[in-house]
Amino acid sequence: MSKRVLITGGSRGIGAATARHLARQGYDLCLNYRQGRETAEALMAEIREHHGVACIALQADVSIEAEVMRLFEEMDERLGPITHLVNNAGILQPQMRVLEMSAERINKTLTTNVTSYFLCCREAVRRMTAGGAIVNVSSAAARLGSAGEYVDYAASKGAIDVLTKGLSLEVAAQGIRVNGVRPGFIYTDMHGDGGEPGRVDRIKGNIPLLRGGQPAEVAAAIAWLLSDEASYATGTFIDVAGGR
Ligand code: NAP
Repeated sequence: MSKRVLITGGSRGIGAATARHLARQGYDLCLNYRQGRETAEALMAEIREHHGVACIALQADVSIEAEVMRLFEEMDERLGPITHLVNNAGILQPQMRVLEMSAERINKTLTTNVTSYFLCCREAVRRMTAGGAIVNVSSAAARLGSAGEYVDYAASKGAIDVLTKGLSLEVAAQGIRVNGVRPGFIYTDMHGDGGEPGRVDRIKGNIPLLRGGQPAEVAAAIAWLLSDEASYATGTFIDVAGGR
């Protein structure tokens, strides 16, 4: 059976590392991005050239329902219906305490990090048959709370863990698996969006393995949960957080 994966936020960071990993395993890929067209198209070209799999890059803001519908319809037409989904697109906003957070900020975090995962899960399950698999990229923040930095973000990831558990039970009898990966402190551009590009290096002394993680180390866990090797794993999580 040919495997067609959609990776939301697949243009850079953990999404891009996952795309490279899955391309090596022979998946056809749909890389979604929000605004970084050049980066997404450069990765698409690299994957087509080096891995000989089909790869397309599609712009869509996955927090908006109409754009999610268009994304899946375009994938249906250009690649074929989805068999595997990596829900990965997410944002961090500038560090602040809960006391300072506006409703606008909280809602932006929740629609981007939570509503988008629900919508993409819904559209994926509508198309998947037995053997389909979903991996939701959550965060160690769901366990740690991100006090003084971004509790809204941590709460959004807590919601993703509940979505993962609940949906896995709804679709298990259809032969569709739903799992989560909770990365810890990974070297990507996301920390700059939170206002502290050097955050991982600041924190690494408090991580049991005494270093930050690389996107490829998260990609390997995502790829395993997505694969048939994980055929008896559903509703479960892998923490990739250096022991935190
Ligand atoms: P990143 O480097 O900032 O990349 C984010 C990706 O998401 C980009 O491809 C971006 O596209 C896309 N994106 C953002 N908002 C979007 C939207 N509304 N619609 C579609 N695409 C959107 O992030 P990352 O560090 O790789 O994080 C990936 C996932 O891992 C996130 O869910 C994050 O919460 C989680 N995570 C990361 C860490 C970490 O330490 N880095 C730790 C725990 C969990 P554009 O470039 O086009 O904007």
